Amino acid sequence: ENRINILDIPFIHSTKKQFFHDIIIPSVENQRKLFIVTANPEIVMYANENPAYKKNILQADCIVADGVGIILASKLIRKPLPERIPGFELMELMLGYANQNKKSIFLFGAKDYVVKKAAQNIRKKYPDILIAGYHHGYVDLNDNTVLELIKHSNPDFVFVALGYPRQENWISRNMKKLNKGIYIGVGGSFDVWGG
Ligand code: UDP
Repeated sequence: ENRINILDIPFIHSTKKQFFHDIIIPSVENQRKLFIVTANPEIVMYANENPAYKKNILQADCIVADGVGIILASKLIRKPLPERIPGFELMELMLGYANQNKKSIFLFGAKDYVVKKAAQNIRKKYPDILIAGYHHGYVDLNDNTVLELIKHSNPDFVFVALGYPRQENWISRNMKKLNKGIYIGVGGSFDVWGG
């Protein structure tokens, strides 16, 4: 598909719904792994100052535009992206899909009581979702505990809410050891779900 380079980061040229239907759903249904980065201007700037982080986000299957700053930048270079694709909204679409199709999710990140509460609230709103597991994000990111939990519960969707750059670094380092799953860094989203 179509990609647009902004400050050396290749953004998918797509609307949120198109992206969800054309890329995410087929990947889940075919049990293909997918690494999604939702990049805002901060992430783009940070990547261009930190080669290791940039290398990690360039391993993503898809980088989507999160934030009006990226949309503005795309217009300035006359390759306008259609709209923002915020991580929180993508997560809502994925939860709705998981609920309708009895797919499983894993939540990794935020404080212990926050991720617990987020799981409870998600279960209330989406009763048919299978919660494969959850774990707070205050762990040594080189430790394999959470990786093993995900490996054994084999979820369809893995939401990683550690904030950047931690979440993308964790995904790029670990997803090759996992069998399936849609992997996406969702920043502070669990704080919203847990509120
Ligand atoms: N977080 C985490 N582990 C950490 C640091 C942060 O799980 O070592 C969580 C934090 O609790 C919050 C989310 O990551 O739910 C986003 O954190 P922050 O606001 O610092 O990141 P940003 O939103 O700036 O990316």
